[in-house]
Amino acid sequence: MRALVKAKPEQGIWMEERARPEIGPKEVLVRVHKTGICGTDVHIYKWDAWAQNTVPVPMVVGHEFAGEIVEVGSDVKDLAIGQRVSGEGHVVGMNSRASRAGKFHLDPETRGIGVNLPGAFAEYLALPAFNAVPLPDSIDDELGAILDPLGNAVHTALAFDIVGEDVLITGAGPIGIMGAAVARHVGARHVVITDVNPQRLELAGKVADVVPVNVAETELRDVMSRLGMKEGFDVGLEMSGAPAALDEMIAHTVMGGRIALLGIPAQPFPFDLGKVVFRMITLKGIYGREMFETWHKMLAMLESGLDIRGVITSRMPAADYQKAFESAAAGGEGKIVLDWQ
Ligand code: NAD
Ligand code: ZN
Repeated sequence: MRALVKAKPEQGIWMEERARPEIGPKEVLVRVHKTGICGTDVHIYKWDAWAQNTVPVPMVVGHEFAGEIVEVGSDVKDLAIGQRVSGEGHVVGMNSRASRAGKFHLDPETRGIGVNLPGAFAEYLALPAFNAVPLPDSIDDELGAILDPLGNAVHTALAFDIVGEDVLITGAGPIGIMGAAVARHVGARHVVITDVNPQRLELAGKVADVVPVNVAETELRDVMSRLGMKEGFDVGLEMSGAPAALDEMIAHTVMGGRIALLGIPAQPFPFDLGKVVFRMITLKGIYGREMFETWHKMLAMLESGLDIRGVITSRMPAADYQKAFESAAAGGEGKIVLDWQ
């Protein structure tokens, strides 16, 4: 089969011929139809410090996928050949206290497909049956291929009650944009999204009914006055990983406000903890998706009118992976979906 492999410890990614994976008794074999390129894949492509410390080479990369089950392991009872699935890319252990309590997303032994287990940028993927998520007919393969990042957006946006609240999202990357659409869908009042990249802000305004703000040019205070907001945002969703964005968020959050942090900073950085203390702000880290509550919520919201398809800005055959990765690394696009059929 064809697979996109991190074959050498240097910048790049390579299409190689690989043996089709063998499945264990508790796994399914998925014929991959479509995949999404994630920021994580770009880190691996660029071979930055995080990738060098995390990813063993060679490794088939990729974790955002949709496809069809073509083989089921002997112990798998509730999935069938021909079923369309996406799936959770975090493979958890079952021995930790968290897992035994059903809080799988908190398992400290989690490994990631396409990071430290063979990934989804391939014609076939071996997946634990536990991780498979069947797709309703209304969710096609390209939407199925971006459920993983939509799940990050949903997990973050639903971390706090945002019904009727004013929400600030920092970072209009694909996840921030989808987070904005989710905030709108579930009934936030004002949803403001910031970035410093005009292309990204333009895309945000097209995909979701939000107020895009370029913080390189506009003061957030002015936007707040225009919207009639006096004290600040009730809830913040940090989706950039940029230190300046967190400073800005803390400065514009109400007393007692709540901030969910998804963005991953490139390195440790100082911020004004005093402001967090005196303003009694709650900070909550968000990682991955809740298994499988986030999956349930996002499928339900897609079936009840949440529309995030506009975040997909390019569709290409897998053979054009080089162009796709260069484009993803340039940072102007939304989601790029590769076709493996
Ligand atoms: P992305 O890199 O495509 O988007 C981040 C955006 O932030 C960019 O558009 C960038 O221009 C913008 N930005 C930079 N400086 C800013 C500033 N000062 N103010 C506002 N915006 C600014 O990322 P993405 O794929 O949308 O993911 C969002 C973040 O979430 C990233 O940091 C990513 O690493 C992280 N992430 C975390 C998890 C998790 O489980 N915690 C999972 C996936 C992604
Ligand atoms: Zn991803």
